[in-house]
Amino acid sequence: MKIHEYQAKRILSHAGIAVPEGDYASTPLEARLIAERLGKTSVVKAQVHAGGRGKAGGVRVVESPAEAEEAAAALIGTNLVTHQTGPQGVPVNGVLVEEAIDIAKELYVSLVVDGAAEGVVAMASEAGGIDIEEVAEKTPDKLLKVAIDPVLGLQPFQGRKLAYGLNVEPELVRTVAGIAGALYRIIEERDSSLIEINPLVITTDGRLLAADAKFGFDDDALFRHDDLQALHDPDQEDPLEAEAGEFGISYVKLDGNVGCIVNGAGLAMATMDVTNAAGAAPANFLDVGGGADEEKVAQALRIVVSDPNVETVLINIFGGILRCDIVARGLVMASESQPDRMLPMVVRMLGTNAEEGRRLLSESSLDVTLVNDLNEAADAIKSAS
Ligand code: GDP
Ligand code: MN
Repeated sequence: MKIHEYQAKRILSHAGIAVPEGDYASTPLEARLIAERLGKTSVVKAQVHAGGRGKAGGVRVVESPAEAEEAAAALIGTNLVTHQTGPQGVPVNGVLVEEAIDIAKELYVSLVVDGAAEGVVAMASEAGGIDIEEVAEKTPDKLLKVAIDPVLGLQPFQGRKLAYGLNVEPELVRTVAGIAGALYRIIEERDSSLIEINPLVITTDGRLLAADAKFGFDDDALFRHDDLQALHDPDQEDPLEAEAGEFGISYVKLDGNVGCIVNGAGLAMATMDVTNAAGAAPANFLDVGGGADEEKVAQALRIVVSDPNVETVLINIFGGILRCDIVARGLVMASESQPDRMLPMVVRMLGTNAEEGRRLLSESSLDVTLVNDLNEAADAIKSAS
């Protein structure tokens, strides 16, 4: 789960990390009042779960409360398209109005849970700001990486190492190390998977301020963080992904035209590989999970076929706790409720009650090709597309 910049900055501020003074506004009038209270040059920043706002016109410097109101009016209610969003962009439902800061230098600091490193990796670069992706790609030596041992946590010497890597003045080394330590504690305490401060600004008067903040949280740990659950903003998610989430279905939308319905994350990955190997492209990752019932399977099919790109549906079920006859009933249920969106299906079913499931499907009015293994599935997809 992602959260908004203004929410992330509240967490940072709580952890003792300095952020610019400001507040969230959901209307232009509120934006004006905040700018009035700040009483100086301000920035109005679109609050969306995507980076690249600066380059997309989502960050505006304003000289007066009237201008703040105008900038907010121009942003709120629109969709912001950045290089990190799809072509439709994401809706701007509010803005952060902050004191503008005088920037001497923009640094980059991030902490990410890295599976390959089996722990958190902290990254720092003195070339922060809006072109950090280019820095990482073209001059990776400018990005310092420090792996943190999960048993020991972030050690003071590692904080100092990051500070030296950022090439800050000696009097700021302690502050940078303190920030790194505080960020690591946030990761630990809140089951965060990513924290990115870009830019971490050195102001012209020599202070360090977190001018932007992006947080990611581990969805599987959210159950133990009520305060974080309250920050969930479904408006920022792909509508199909949000709907799937409500039914406990793991669904990630992709760009292809073969919809996939599978039980088990590993099997879902393998099914996507088979689809690719057949020269077709998966339209989604979907795992109905182990404890699915008829209704959940039906929901999964409804979600998959509501993607207009989908032309064929590949169903790959290894029946265990989830019985194949239940899956078949769910597929029939969904198809009969949406007869105008009945797409050809390639179905591989093995395991508990597979025979019963296959019988139910072949006796139904669905356009089903039953296959026995993944090779046959690939052939069937090939001939369908
Ligand atoms: P992002 O593009 O979505 O990552 O949004 P950021 O919050 O990082 O803002 C993009 C850029 O806007 C920053 O790198 C800064 O150069 C600039 N910016 C943001 N806040 C301020 C500010 O208070 N004062 C000034 N002068 N520039 C700012
Ligand atoms: Mn940024």
